[in-house]
Amino acid sequence: MSLFADFLNEIKRNDSRGRCLHYESDEQCSKFINAHSIQKSNQLGVIAESGHIYRVTADLSTMRKNNGRPAPKKVGVKKASTFSGFCKRHDNDLFQPIDDFPLQPNAEQIALYAYRCICREFFVKQNAESSIESLKNHPELSAEGRSVLLSSLAGHSLGFHRLKHHKQYYDRALSDKKFDEFEYITFESRSPWNLQLSGVLYPDYDFEGRKLQDLGDHSSPLGFISFFTAPTSQGWSFSICWHGSSNEPCFNFVESLRSAVSNGEKLEDVLFRFSISCCENHAFRISWWDSLTDSDKTEILSRVELVTDLNIPIPDSYLAKGLEGIADWEFEHVYTSLSVGT
Ligand SMILES: [Zn+2]
Repeated sequence: MSLFADFLNEIKRNDSRGRCLHYESDEQCSKFINAHSIQKSNQLGVIAESGHIYRVTADLSTMRKNNGRPAPKKVGVKKASTFSGFCKRHDNDLFQPIDDFPLQPNAEQIALYAYRCICREFFVKQNAESSIESLKNHPELSAEGRSVLLSSLAGHSLGFHRLKHHKQYYDRALSDKKFDEFEYITFESRSPWNLQLSGVLYPDYDFEGRKLQDLGDHSSPLGFISFFTAPTSQGWSFSICWHGSSNEPCFNFVESLRSAVSNGEKLEDVLFRFSISCCENHAFRISWWDSLTDSDKTEILSRVELVTDLNIPIPDSYLAKGLEGIADWEFEHVYTSLSVGT
């Protein structure tokens, strides 16, 4: 087997290795299920067509088939956005308020969505670390390749360590039912729902191109946000959320969103740009994507390439401009835990 094939197999093996990331997980956790980080029944089901969605991806196999460029990939809803990060019992017990009810939003629901986001990221990061770890003694690896791999492993370990720091806060808040330790802003829309996502981010630059925090500074913890779409009783919603321990950069991040919009930017454009630039865990409605003009598709794919290709420098203004006029949503309502809303 080649190094590349071994690597892909290792990733697959890790992805299917179930575990329970619930804050009270113990040896009784069993029946690890394929949980959907974007809910299957009342989210993905809404945008799926013939049981499928598109995911614009820069994963290794897509890039290989597409001359090294990102491309939309048709994915079956059953497989889309799943991760085996909870046992059946904990998944059912914990997420019932969001799996069985639309987002109102209330503090508990926001905390649960955010928790699912961080747990999915934890699952992915843990897998990446062990996939790379398992290859470092591969017989086909050259000395140079090994050194690249080891530095990648160091980077992943650091990223994973950072994430564990934040998961501890989330775990404790959930376990103590202190849901109001999370701050959030939720935008609600009645427009057709064409893009669904859930993700996390250490915001580095704000929506006006100002630096928020230095991702290369390893001496102190970074501020961390979760963001997600969710069904509401009136339509659907886009939320940005963070634990109070990340207040400093995250409050400024959201404040810059308010400021960008009051300076004439369309909220819908800003959130679409944010979605494409910061979230690989998403699902597009296939007919919506297919109806886009070629130049819109190219602009989206170029943005995905910009944020995934390590050889292209990302401009400070990446969240401040680009991808205008593509989103056809309208947001009608804002809900927030913050005393100053947008
Ligand atoms: Zn469990």
